[in-house]
Amino acid sequence: MAYYPEPIAKLIESYAKLPGIGQKTATRLAFYTIGMQDDDVNGFAANLLSAKRDLHFCSVCGNLTDSDPCNICTDESRDRTTIFVVEESKDVLAMERIREYTGLYHVLHGTISPMNGVSPDDINVKSLITRLMDSTVTEIIIATNATSDGEATAMYLARMIKPAGIKVTRLARGLAVGSDIEYADEVTLSKAVENRQEI
Ligand SMILES: [Zn+2]
Repeated sequence: MAYYPEPIAKLIESYAKLPGIGQKTATRLAFYTIGMQDDDVNGFAANLLSAKRDLHFCSVCGNLTDSDPCNICTDESRDRTTIFVVEESKDVLAMERIREYTGLYHVLHGTISPMNGVSPDDINVKSLITRLMDSTVTEIIIATNATSDGEATAMYLARMIKPAGIKVTRLARGLAVGSDIEYADEVTLSKAVENRQEI
């Protein structure tokens, strides 16, 4: 491997930790960064630190936010009878992009995965059940990804929630098996919501 001065080697190492970035791209990005204007580099570093320092998970829905509860949870114009359950915060962004859904969200931060020893207690399930206590919510739309763990999670939630008389639906199969809702195009996602099935 080529020898680089330590600051460059460390920068390459940091970039290489990002998903989808190999050694070659990391090296290219590191050299690009070194060539950037001071202001831009300072801004970049400040943005990294601020994203990490100022964002946390909403105590109600688990979404990433810089206020608590988040803007969605506190928005009085949103429909409080429906909760859209997703695996990750980025799935909330995907849904908000299509601008059709006006209800609330719940972010699980993962899926139940018996194979990997992830139990319901390891993800953000308990607070979802707590949210259902005051009987405002009448429908839960489960939008976990179409993977085996996503399915197992949907089934578990349905078993927990249905006895409370709350309608539990699952996104329609417009989405390819194994695909992430994050990457679904807007029409596909919107159709999947429209054609959701009760489970
Ligand atoms: Zn929230």
